[in-house]
Amino acid sequence: MSPCPPFQDLNALVDGALPREEELALRRHLDDCPACRGWVNGMDALKQAVGRAYGGNVASPALQRAVRASLPKRRHWWWAGVVAGPFLLASGAFL
Ligand SMILES: [Zn+2]
Repeated sequence: MSPCPPFQDLNALVDGALPREEELALRRHLDDCPACRGWVNGMDALKQAVGRAYGGNVASPALQRAVRASLPKRRHWWWAGVVAGPFLLASGAFL
């Protein structure tokens, strides 16, 4: 099994923002890694719930890229995405 990817990559997968080759590689990892698969499934469910709560509006792709670019690349920051994700998605609904 390949090493677990940084949370930014998992976020990008949930947002559908990965290039096709990276998405396929990450999905192969998810097949073998219940921890990452569970994280992605949880974020996807959260994203859908926030989208429903705000009428389907989510942060623009440009805002999502800017937020991802501003986040540190270190793996122990994965929790920041869990905490900040819903707020970022909700704030995007008002932009
Ligand atoms: Zn993993």
